[in-house]
Amino acid sequence: MIYGLDIGGTKIELTCFNGALRKLDSQRTATPVDDFQAFIDTLVNLIESADRQHGCQGVVGIGMPGVIDAEGHSLSANVPCATGRNVAETLAARLKRPVVVENDCRLFALSEAHGGAGAGYAHVYGAVLGTGAAGGLVLDGNLYRSRQGIAGEYGHHPLPASLREQYQLPLLDCGCGLSGCLEPYIAGPGLANLHRHLCGESLSAPELVERWRAGDKNAIATREIHMDLLGAAFANLVKAYDPDIIVLGGGLSCIEEIYRDLPQAIERHLFAGFHAPVIAPPKFGDASGARGAALLARQTMEF
Ligand SMILES: [Zn+2]
Repeated sequence: MIYGLDIGGTKIELTCFNGALRKLDSQRTATPVDDFQAFIDTLVNLIESADRQHGCQGVVGIGMPGVIDAEGHSLSANVPCATGRNVAETLAARLKRPVVVENDCRLFALSEAHGGAGAGYAHVYGAVLGTGAAGGLVLDGNLYRSRQGIAGEYGHHPLPASLREQYQLPLLDCGCGLSGCLEPYIAGPGLANLHRHLCGESLSAPELVERWRAGDKNAIATREIHMDLLGAAFANLVKAYDPDIIVLGGGLSCIEEIYRDLPQAIERHLFAGFHAPVIAPPKFGDASGARGAALLARQTMEF
């Protein structure tokens, strides 16, 4: 039995998988975000309740927002009580079994590379584009796990100066503490930020999509600028890793126009004659956090 836990800023979901990664059942509870002891107790209760239900000691893999370094220390804006703490070590001591913890966007990439949209490709980049923009790289089936855990934070690459100049964009502060990161321009709230700046209108990403599909010229202009910025962001990924496929996740991965327009937008920011990778929608979507955590546990722990 493998337990994949997907920890978010509001809820924790534990999904039980068998050894072949077939989902058996799941349970969820609210996330205590301000009290580390309560946070750990909640995880222990969920895991021990699953143990009782299945009559065994399940293997534990956890995905959570934030950056987790090679030693297991977290930096998490969504679960602030975990910042500076070692969730894997603390839980392993309580549960008396090994626990693996990784960033949820890196696990999205791992899940899509195994049996998902990236199956059959050697080098898979999974790029989540929702409230934030972060991802992970999977090389020949193995998630690239870096020393400080920061590799994959593509949303915090800087917005190119040429595009800021071309579209006369304001310099936006980013939630990470830096300014001029791509995330506040390209993620879901970024699409809304761009439209507000360009047209003075406050519309959510879904409202914008509805408008541009109805032929609204302002919404179409915002979409085209957003696509150019997204193309630049993904061209950075191509220049760093040249993946075979980029699998999109998060709320914006539902926008069909992205798959039509993004390859050309990426190529505008590459050297002449170089091509964009395949851009694909996810197979597992929101289920990838728990599934990726279970996969990493299965890969990391021999059993
Ligand atoms: Zn940033």
